[in-house]
Amino acid sequence: MSAPRYVSTRGHAPAVGLGAAIAAGLAPDGGLYVPERLPTLDPAAFDPHGDLPTTATTLLAPFFASDPLAAELPAICAEAFTFAAPLRPLARPDALLLELFHGPTAAFKDFGARFLAACLRRLRGGDAAPLTILVATSGDTGAAVGAAFHGQANLRVAILYPDGRVSPRQAHQLGSFGGNVQALRVAGSFDDCQRMVKAALNDAELQREVPLSSANSISLGRLLPQMSYYAHASLGWWRRHGTPLDFIVPTGNLGNALACVWARAIGLPIGEVRLACNANATLPEFFSGGDYRPRDAVPTLANAMDVGAPSNFERLRWSWRDDDALRQDLRAESVDDATIRATLLRHANDYDEVVCPHTATALAMFERERKSSGRAWAIVATAHPAKFETVLEPLLGRPIPVPPSLATMLARPAQATPVAAGDDMLKQWLGGRS
Ligand SMILES: *Cc1c(COP(=O)(O)O)cnc(C)c1O
Repeated sequence: MSAPRYVSTRGHAPAVGLGAAIAAGLAPDGGLYVPERLPTLDPAAFDPHGDLPTTATTLLAPFFASDPLAAELPAICAEAFTFAAPLRPLARPDALLLELFHGPTAAFKDFGARFLAACLRRLRGGDAAPLTILVATSGDTGAAVGAAFHGQANLRVAILYPDGRVSPRQAHQLGSFGGNVQALRVAGSFDDCQRMVKAALNDAELQREVPLSSANSISLGRLLPQMSYYAHASLGWWRRHGTPLDFIVPTGNLGNALACVWARAIGLPIGEVRLACNANATLPEFFSGGDYRPRDAVPTLANAMDVGAPSNFERLRWSWRDDDALRQDLRAESVDDATIRATLLRHANDYDEVVCPHTATALAMFERERKSSGRAWAIVATAHPAKFETVLEPLLGRPIPVPPSLATMLARPAQATPVAAGDDMLKQWLGGRS
């Protein structure tokens, strides 16, 4: 196997190996790292009795070939994927739910965050100066990254979130780690948090004092492992039914859906891929023939998908190189808040199924698609409904049971440091701690 190389979507940075791409996060020209060429894999290459870590190891091996991390890949997968991603039939015909919320913070981001943490711990070694991971979050990312890095030697995490703009349960989660994971509640917006992180990362002087990295969703170390659950679910379906499996993916920054599309391109038995978006319609407009027009996000009930400029779109465009071909291969639709509410209510009343508001966008899209297809669709469930009790409980008029891992986190005390918005505030805080 020749060593795979990773290049920038903007084409002005040298090609690097996977370990370097994961450690860097963003390419030095501001682009995103992509595999120069996607490998191809035969479904028959996978162990038919393998569990998720086994499937992930086979799938990711060609991406890691010749990298110093290659020998560690089975251990990394076993360490990251300690919980299942079951494909469960719904109480209605021709729909399945791919449940990605059985990790410690009850959202799919646990898969990528834990894999990234397992890689960075090995890349960093024991003797290097501690690395500080900065993450700006509107909720789920910060919790997943905090949980994944909590207690890891030589790695620290600073989570920045907009004070008062995440749900009370999300805020509690973010502040509940302590030790090497500190939460900063910023008196500003999510965009302010992101700007503060970028300013710190771009400050060479500060970096000499405090080595910094980031863990946002553009990291290949989060994106690649997300292919694993699509591989595992589609292979299981294909072995039982002899047909590919189609997916509807709730989509914001496009990281989860891109992993599905890459898994299909590699040769896994995946049929149609649909992107379910909320009222932030940048992608639906593009896929229905319009221009790509990034814009400010508007708040919706599916808040983890409130993205107006999906960062992974750059990777999608780089891979296809032709917008019309891209539009042929993928479809996207926008689902407004009223439809999210109606879908949540209908499924709770008619089928006794409670899903999170993000998953509801995919269910709503399924109801439109089903009329034309007649095939079974896998609806991707990105978070546990108990994380969004402030939306669901008033709507459904009943409490949503909390899964045990989430309950443990919510029972711990939580603490967050208040910080004013402004580039220098984070730098001061970091400098004061080195
Ligand atoms: C992050 C998130 C999404 C959006 O995923 P992307 O990879 O950004 O498209 C959807 N649902 C939930 C619950 C999330 O946390």
